[in-house]
Amino acid sequence: MLARAEASSHIHSTGGLPKVVWAKGSYLHDAEGKQYIDGSGGPAVYCIGHGNAEVNDAIKTQLDRIAHGYRYNFTTDALEELTEIIRGRCGGTLNHMVYVTGGSEAVESCLKLALQYHSARGDMSRRRFIARERSWHGNTLGALSVSGFLERKKPFEGSLLDVSRLSPVNAYRPVAGATPETLAEVCAKELEDEILRVGPDKVCAFIFEPVVGAAGGCVPAPQGYAKRIRAICDRYGVIMISDEVMSGAGRCGHWRALERDGVEPDIMSVAKGLAAGYLPLGAAIYNDKVADAIHSVYGTPMTGHTFTGHTACCAAGVAVQKIVQREKLVERVLANESKFIAMIKEATRDIEAVGDVRGRGYFIAAELVKNRKTKEPFAAEHKLFMHIRQKALDNGLICYPVGGNADGINGDVVILAPPYNSTDAELDEIVTKTAKSIREVLADKRLG
Ligand code: PLP
Repeated sequence: MLARAEASSHIHSTGGLPKVVWAKGSYLHDAEGKQYIDGSGGPAVYCIGHGNAEVNDAIKTQLDRIAHGYRYNFTTDALEELTEIIRGRCGGTLNHMVYVTGGSEAVESCLKLALQYHSARGDMSRRRFIARERSWHGNTLGALSVSGFLERKKPFEGSLLDVSRLSPVNAYRPVAGATPETLAEVCAKELEDEILRVGPDKVCAFIFEPVVGAAGGCVPAPQGYAKRIRAICDRYGVIMISDEVMSGAGRCGHWRALERDGVEPDIMSVAKGLAAGYLPLGAAIYNDKVADAIHSVYGTPMTGHTFTGHTACCAAGVAVQKIVQREKLVERVLANESKFIAMIKEATRDIEAVGDVRGRGYFIAAELVKNRKTKEPFAAEHKLFMHIRQKALDNGLICYPVGGNADGINGDVVILAPPYNSTDAELDEIVTKTAKSIREVLADKRLG
């Protein structure tokens, strides 16, 4: 049997994995003494950097009191405080939470809340989900079913839910017949057409990422799209689920990613940045409308797990969110957005293969193409994104390269998602090392 590091490197990387031993702020250190700057918060998680003493102390204090107050026996200060913080951050009617330990569980709970909402209203025929291609919602079977990420789904086909799938909404690669200007309208119409095709009385919910993460490479929907789909969901009684596991908790310059679009979903997921990786934490957040229906009939959502509302995890979330709020880090991300994009564009200006730089806040990707004019991607067999990940590690940089964004198989993007509190010098080091790593990989003759 392969050792763990070898096994995972076999799947995810082109080389052996370094062994990480400690980290502080934006820097990680491996067992050989090598330093890496964290250009992507790992997988868009470590939003306040590493080794934060205030968060660590809050967790230790909680552990000294009680690690875990089981949800059917107790409530806790940490859980109640976190709920108040999230309510304040969401505003509007998003007042109810199911806490979980990660993104997939959060999405799974969102899907189940939507089903339970319709059940509570006696609408048992509304069982079908609609989702989009080039999206990623997680690895559990339900979340995987609604995901549109071919490579990650293939081995499980046959046991997944039958889900309606719409085109990706990507201004760089608009669907046939749409221009960047008409994209919002064309793609919203696709949702309405699918609801009518299936029959509105059969549709449970539409789930989408407001800014597509791993499956597309930081792809924001065009202006007006979210408002249009909100109106369509309302028209046909379809629940709108915003998957903000990656894009939420401030990553895109607003605490809720959809805030910028002026839209409130019925249900949303949040995870990665919520406790910033200090402990595993996610949440499915649902509005008063959904809560009224579910609570009046069932009393409580029929989802959640043994570690739902885990006390030490909630304490970590509270400590992280207090820092994010006190240091105005979401505001900082928004204020620095155009500067960060400009820095990436400037650093990669001489790289012909960089076809697009896009995203929101500190969630920005560079898409690499073989031909800038035609936007033809590099062939998947080159595994360009994997080589860039390895080269970046060699250069002392953690970034988040992903493949398959163009058509589900081909395509390469490099996602940058630095900690919200990175200094200007750190941002500069991140973009410089990213450009250097891309340049060095492209110079490899085998990639052509
Ligand atoms: N949803 C989105 C948008 C994600 O990006 C991810 C993970 O990358 C998930 C759900 C699944 O989260 P997790 O890996 O924490 O289960």
